[in-house]
Amino acid sequence: VSRFEGITMAPPDPILGVSEAFKADNHELKLNLGVGAYRTEELEPYVLDVVKKADKLLLEKGENREYLPIEGLAAFNKVTADLLFGADNPVIKQQRVATVQGLSGTGSLRLAAALIERYFPGGEVLISSPTWGNHKNIFNDAKVPWSEYRYYDPKTVGLDFEGMMADIKAAPEGSFILLHGCAHNPTGIDPTPEQWEIIADVIQEKNHIPFFDIAYQGFASGSLGADAASVRMFVARGMEVIAAQSYSKNLGLYAERIGAINVVCSSPDAAARVKSQLKRIARPMYSNPPVHGARIVANIVGDAALFKEWNAEMEMMAGRIKNVRDKLFDSLSSEDKSGKDWSFVLKQIGMFSFTGLNKAQCDNMTTKWHIYMTKDGRISLAGLSLAKCEYLADAIIDSYH
Ligand code: PLP
Repeated sequence: VSRFEGITMAPPDPILGVSEAFKADNHELKLNLGVGAYRTEELEPYVLDVVKKADKLLLEKGENREYLPIEGLAAFNKVTADLLFGADNPVIKQQRVATVQGLSGTGSLRLAAALIERYFPGGEVLISSPTWGNHKNIFNDAKVPWSEYRYYDPKTVGLDFEGMMADIKAAPEGSFILLHGCAHNPTGIDPTPEQWEIIADVIQEKNHIPFFDIAYQGFASGSLGADAASVRMFVARGMEVIAAQSYSKNLGLYAERIGAINVVCSSPDAAARVKSQLKRIARPMYSNPPVHGARIVANIVGDAALFKEWNAEMEMMAGRIKNVRDKLFDSLSSEDKSGKDWSFVLKQIGMFSFTGLNKAQCDNMTTKWHIYMTKDGRISLAGLSLAKCEYLADAIIDSYH
């Protein structure tokens, strides 16, 4: 009898499990709208041309594969902070940012969670309801208590801004408020610039610490700067800010696991100490981060021509998703005879659309229509083509009514 007999079967991951179910389906019209990964119009995975070029240059240089320092590649850490905060941001010049390369967005969030667990005992993280499925896992595993603030209003399929503000106000002073920098996952609903200002007011009043998860910089609007506006506004107010970055989506580096955690501190001394502790947390977890993807990012951002090319490809990807969004809205509006207002689809931004479908309706999408999606009603528009919009609209309308 096995010594591991007492171990029960873990449930499949609600997001990655969708892809497994999709693979097992042989229907010709099947569609995978579960995982948030960019696909071409032919629904094939996409490697950015600029990444291929950077890869080739790296190969020609023939760099070694020795370990990176615990904090990652210095050139990467520099450009990643520059991209997020803006290269001429005073916090960078004043060396007030602790930046450590992490294992993409997830690993970077995990480092910050560990920092909170160690240095803010009892400190609570507030996450949006709903949020990306892995946030709860990350804080649970790091033993950081969390609760939710209202975010999504099912009546309007929009932002419950009053509820959000009330909950952030009611949180114990000094809580960490997890915010999606842009392209909120799963809803695709972002606060307006005016609402961001009010969010910052309340966070400042309550002495909370803003904790940004920015996994889609450049992917929401097509512009790196515009998508970082929320983070930069908080920093410009002189606030201390935590921000986790990912290059999975905007550079398509998913499996390379490239991202960073940044902690903006009030003084360079504090930043140096925070950085030293982040390294101390990383060392026994995974020792040091991957080098190849970090070199790709550093080379692309560090080269004017490649950087320009990256921006153009990001615009192209964001544009394709926008086109699919428009076509889906048109298909829903023209085919649904019930008079339902589908304009929320157009108001959402980024890779996802939140359909408002409940779990039973999502089940109908999958069992009857072979459309795979997470059970919260989220669909990844990045996995949709113009050619399949009408089929998807038919499925959504059928499932709704
Ligand atoms: N945060 C959000 C909101 C996400 O949607 C994702 C990916 O789906 C991530 C973080 C992290 O992804 P990764 O670990 O691949 O960078």
